[in-house]
Amino acid sequence: MATAYLGLGANLGDREATLGGAVAELGGIGDVVAASALYETEPVGYVDQPAFLNACVALRTELSPEELLKFVKGMESRAGRAESFRNAPRPLDIDILLYVNDGGEPVVMESERLTIPHLRMHERGFVLVPLGEIAEDVRHPVLGQTVRELRDAVGVEGVRPLTG
Ligand code: AMP
Repeated sequence: MATAYLGLGANLGDREATLGGAVAELGGIGDVVAASALYETEPVGYVDQPAFLNACVALRTELSPEELLKFVKGMESRAGRAESFRNAPRPLDIDILLYVNDGGEPVVMESERLTIPHLRMHERGFVLVPLGEIAEDVRHPVLGQTVRELRDAVGVEGVRPLTG
């Protein structure tokens, strides 16, 4: 058993419904034990696209990191994501940010398909703000800093809690 911290994002279609459906679907492969609020965030990289809704969840699961990646990629396809280019608009994007085995042992891995911790999580306000809500004291096993410390070191101006 392990706890996986996932980053969810949506910027096409009914974003809230997509994220709600994604959390429900994740419940089929484990227990969603924590979920952040939803944040509206300005796109990064390719900026000529709608704002994203982002959230993070903690999932208790028996799936290995590879099995989990396969499942979340299936969820992205079912949500209608066509493979295009990096940072392109997408109905649903799910990243595996951190994966901590029971006993507190964090996974550090790098393969062609999967890098954990996620390569860019520590530089993204739209990841660190919601993740900070549910995992403030969890430590990045490569950088050695907590999520709180990482969040306090990045720009978070474009990340706003969703209101209304
Ligand atoms: P992106 O379109 O930026 O979300 O990148 C998706 C690709 O990144 C997937 O095809 C994965 O194989 C790869 N990838 C590498 N590490 C991760 C990770 N920690 N979580 C999700 N996808 C990952």
